[in-house]
Amino acid sequence: MTAQKIDGKEIAAQLRGRIGKAVAGLQAAHGKTPGLAVVLVGEDAASEVYVRNKGIATKAAGMTSYEFRLPADTPEDALLDKVRALNAEPDVNGILVQFPVPAQISQQRVIDTIDPSKDVDGLNPANAGRLVSGLQALTPCTPLGSVILAKETLGELSGKHAVIIGRSNLVGKPVAQLLLNENCTVTMAHSRTADLPAMCRQADILVAAVGIAELVKGDWVKPGACVIDVGINRIDAPEKGLDDKGRGKTRLVGDVDFAAVSEIAAHITPVPGGVGPMTIACLLKNTLTAFCRQNGFEEPEV
Ligand code: NAP
Repeated sequence: MTAQKIDGKEIAAQLRGRIGKAVAGLQAAHGKTPGLAVVLVGEDAASEVYVRNKGIATKAAGMTSYEFRLPADTPEDALLDKVRALNAEPDVNGILVQFPVPAQISQQRVIDTIDPSKDVDGLNPANAGRLVSGLQALTPCTPLGSVILAKETLGELSGKHAVIIGRSNLVGKPVAQLLLNENCTVTMAHSRTADLPAMCRQADILVAAVGIAELVKGDWVKPGACVIDVGINRIDAPEKGLDDKGRGKTRLVGDVDFAAVSEIAAHITPVPGGVGPMTIACLLKNTLTAFCRQNGFEEPEV
């Protein structure tokens, strides 16, 4: 079998297009536009790229993008004061503090300070608890994007056995909860799971969110499974030679051995171009949702 590649780039582009249309409709009806504030502390190169891309996508969807760059030595209190000011700002419907933050700042205190109604990253314990309780919540973007990819690919997920490798608050736990909400039978695996390959072989839907390059091998996968690879790992690529500074080139791979698993699975997300593009699209989706709920507007179906 050669698996069908799940085109996250295309599915994300379509989702962003539908969000853009919904934003235009709300603007026409109410004269208001959703606003997303992104706060970056320090000068981490990867974070700079993420923040820039988020700003571009926000504006492309017709939303207002607010970017705040604070120096790397910003004290925790100053960042928390900035978050509180954004909580109180009516034109800001979503707040995202780009992680990681410098060591003097507690990531958890930042998460705890964001108003849950503006918590478009879905990490505030109020949103995590509401998700588990089956209540209306803002849901973390990468898990939401992963589950949308599975639904776009398979349609109905009810009754399928989903195995999720990884139990982080950011990815594994919310993916498990979202798949449970879709009536999957859910197994969560992690670093202490006994016989992980045998566990994975039971999965109709296998989600890998570990952070170990190409951990999941071909013989870990049930024939015909749908494999969602959340991992992003940079590895050496000697076959690509040297860059213009004489350093060895690198490439991105997921947590799944793509070539081997493609021979067994029916559907698989590539890295890059699978889950990654869905994350920003779902950030926009959450901002739209937050905007509608804060204003009492009916939420458009996107
Ligand atoms: P994390 O917080 O480091 O969690 C990793 C999880 O993997 C933990 O639950 C850990 O188990 C488990 N694990 C570690 N080694 C394992 C092993 N040998 N066998 C089975 N399980 C193992 O990572 P994360 O934030 O969830 O991110 C996971 C991956 O997703 C990373 O590659 C990250 O870069 C990527 N990611 C991608 C996006 C995107 O936009 N595509 C967004 C976020 C994250 P324990 O709990 O037992 O330690």
